[in-house]
Amino acid sequence: MLALKIGIVLVVLSVAFLIGRRLARNARRRRLMALPFAHDWKAIAERNVPLYRRLPEDLKAQLHGLVQVFLAEKSFEGCGGLEITDEVRVTIAAQACMLLLNRPPTFFPKLRTILVYPHTYVARDSSFDGHIVTDEESSRLGESWQNGPVVLAWDSVKGGTSNAADAHNVVLHEFAHQLDQEDGAADGAPILAHRSRYVAWARVLGAEYEALQDRKRRRRRSVLDKYGATHPAEFFAVATEAFFEKPRQMQKRHPELYEELRDHFRLDPAAWS
Ligand SMILES: [Zn+2]
Repeated sequence: MLALKIGIVLVVLSVAFLIGRRLARNARRRRLMALPFAHDWKAIAERNVPLYRRLPEDLKAQLHGLVQVFLAEKSFEGCGGLEITDEVRVTIAAQACMLLLNRPPTFFPKLRTILVYPHTYVARDSSFDGHIVTDEESSRLGESWQNGPVVLAWDSVKGGTSNAADAHNVVLHEFAHQLDQEDGAADGAPILAHRSRYVAWARVLGAEYEALQDRKRRRRRSVLDKYGATHPAEFFAVATEAFFEKPRQMQKRHPELYEELRDHFRLDPAAWS
């Protein structure tokens, strides 16, 4: 009986501790989000992130808050001699946080560290091994580990941001993998708002994935990068890039896919200037 009482007390204390920690974290995040956004950081985002320039003002303000939390909670490590500057941090954070706008932000809970190399940095096989998605296309080499870091090459980050309409954006791509991996499986389905949404998601994205595989086989042109035909996880990452960078083309050519992503991200980039 005594053991049972001690057990109950321990459970109650553990739950109280977890609730207290979550409340403290949320309060800290609210404070960070309310801080004024540094003028220098805004200038970096304006200069380096064309998508930021297209954002409506209310979303820009929301993004500023998300970036402050992201930069306070994630650590950046320069590899291969790259120095981590505010330019590196803000350029990456501003794009990663686009994926969190308008939704209860989870801030990529499994991610602690972003490793940044100066140049495309390895020549591994393009693969998904259950834990790591490795992307080896020359213009957007990066990695997203399920319970580990995101790895980015700074030249690919800069290349991806130099053209806002080519649907090649390594930061959006790798952080889409992070969203996808939040539920423990890199399967092309991030955590959706309601259980009921998975059926439509699987139907629409499954059909679009097969259609992209078909276009790839027949060497037909596509709004979506053919790299998305290699795995459902890659399809979601590539579709996310196109959703933000080619929203009008996607809306026209893949209306159902656009609608699914619009409902998921709660954003309508086709309507942005
Ligand atoms: Zn990928």
